[in-house]
Amino acid sequence: MKAAILEKIDDPLTVTEVGLGDLSFGQVLVRILVSGVCGSQLQEIAGNKGNAAFVPHLLGHEGCGIVESIGPGVTKVKKGDKVVMHWRKGDGIESDFPTYTFKGKTIRSGKITTFSQYSIVSENRITPVPKDTSNELCALLGCSLSTALATINNEADLKLGESVMIVGAGGLGINLIKAAQLVSAYPIISIDIHENKRKVAKELGATLFINVKKEKIRETLDKKLGIKEVDVIIDTSGNPASMKETIPLLSGTGRFIMIGQPKPGATVELENANHFFGGVGKVLKATQGGGFSPSVEIPRYIKLYNAGILKIDGIVSHWVKLKDINKAIALVRKGQAGRIMIDLQ
Ligand SMILES: [Zn+2]
Repeated sequence: MKAAILEKIDDPLTVTEVGLGDLSFGQVLVRILVSGVCGSQLQEIAGNKGNAAFVPHLLGHEGCGIVESIGPGVTKVKKGDKVVMHWRKGDGIESDFPTYTFKGKTIRSGKITTFSQYSIVSENRITPVPKDTSNELCALLGCSLSTALATINNEADLKLGESVMIVGAGGLGINLIKAAQLVSAYPIISIDIHENKRKVAKELGATLFINVKKEKIRETLDKKLGIKEVDVIIDTSGNPASMKETIPLLSGTGRFIMIGQPKPGATVELENANHFFGGVGKVLKATQGGGFSPSVEIPRYIKLYNAGILKIDGIVSHWVKLKDINKAIALVRKGQAGRIMIDLQ
């Protein structure tokens, strides 16, 4: 089968023939239909995820697929089931690391990977869904959309009419705009450095878009919305300079949630740190996927989608084939894409 392999840190991925290892206890073989491309994969390609010692390895952590076969012990799914493939742990067995053969050697890979035609995954990294669930929705529920909904719900605990600022309008940022709108946050402020994000951010529900290359955040908030502070700030950029600028905008009940990870070793400056004691005491929190619990939350989100309450139009900006994966990664790196999907059918 064809898979995209990270052979060397910081190199483009190689799309090549890879062999599948045998299924061990708790493992499931999935034929992948669609995979999303996540900002996390940029971190892996740069070797920032503790993965440098494990190359060559496979990549990808949000997908939609069909169960092809199951290994010993697996009870959660059967052959033919449609599944969401997610990096957060759900119910089921935590298996050993899957194995593949590459250039005549056995390689081990993460417990879920999705940049390939088939993938061996741990039972707890898949959740079965109804057959008629859209492939695009399934893939989005593997990471970006679920992380966004869970972050808004679990971590930010965003209340009706609270203001929220979402820094970065990439794949995760635009999902966060949707999620904030779903809980009637207001106003929803979207921040980015690319002017081409203005249209999509507004279409998805942002009250105000600020291009920080052209506009000052504090001045624009005051001028356009008459506000000087924000209740919740969610940073997807991981950029220390950006965080230094936005943290002081927190209101007295403010919560600052970091989703985008700064580079290892990076320092984020807390300007006038005393302001954190204002109001009830402000919160600065890093989140792991919004604390998303796949087994519990995926069925809930599908229900919302089926009822027409959760809409995903406009989230996916590009569709590519596996052979063009490096083009997709370049687009994510430039910050010019929404969510990119790989069509593996
Ligand atoms: Zn992700």
